[in-house]
Amino acid sequence: MPRTPHRVFVADALGCLLLLFLGRFRLLGHARILPDVGELESWKHCPRCGTALEPLDGGARIECPQCGFRYYASSKPTASGLVLDDEGRILLARRAQEPDQGKWDLPGGFLNEGEDPRDGLRRELVEEASLDVEPLEFFDFVVDRYGDEDDAQWTLNLYWTCRVLRGTLSAADDVAELRWFARDELPPPAELAFRNNAKVISRWRDEHA
Ligand SMILES: [Zn+2]
Repeated sequence: MPRTPHRVFVADALGCLLLLFLGRFRLLGHARILPDVGELESWKHCPRCGTALEPLDGGARIECPQCGFRYYASSKPTASGLVLDDEGRILLARRAQEPDQGKWDLPGGFLNEGEDPRDGLRRELVEEASLDVEPLEFFDFVVDRYGDEDDAQWTLNLYWTCRVLRGTLSAADDVAELRWFARDELPPPAELAFRNNAKVISRWRDEHA
């Protein structure tokens, strides 16, 4: 084999290792530097038959050698709303529980198994705010983590703009407060829950200047 391709191959391999290393410690494209702890890292036994097992492919999946149970690590999907009133104000919910207790959040939540994300969004708005909303347009998505702990779950957060069909604003138990915010009154990033809210709200504000 000629020398040059071999050297290129070695350089590529080293480059890949460096990228893996940087990615492992989240030095690429993230403000926070945290070690990644995937959702399967703490799975020591098969949840179906109890056989001891090791996560495969760097924690991406498990496959039980005894019963064949398979599971793939993934980001958990959520659906949230940029719910606007007649004056163009946005509805935010202040979180009553950890993670990020006391911070402002776009209303929404985790999807149920098999649930259409727009149905999940409507369900969450009824549960959190007693509002029946209509999702209008898909706005954005953000991959994030559910809190600052090393083993915080990865989330895939989906956002729709929404209008209110009916209902009277009323906060649920897991919401400390609900409030409509005009564009220029929106809380600063430090008062917003998670990273995804700041990103989505910042984009919405830029597009409605
Ligand atoms: Zn098993």
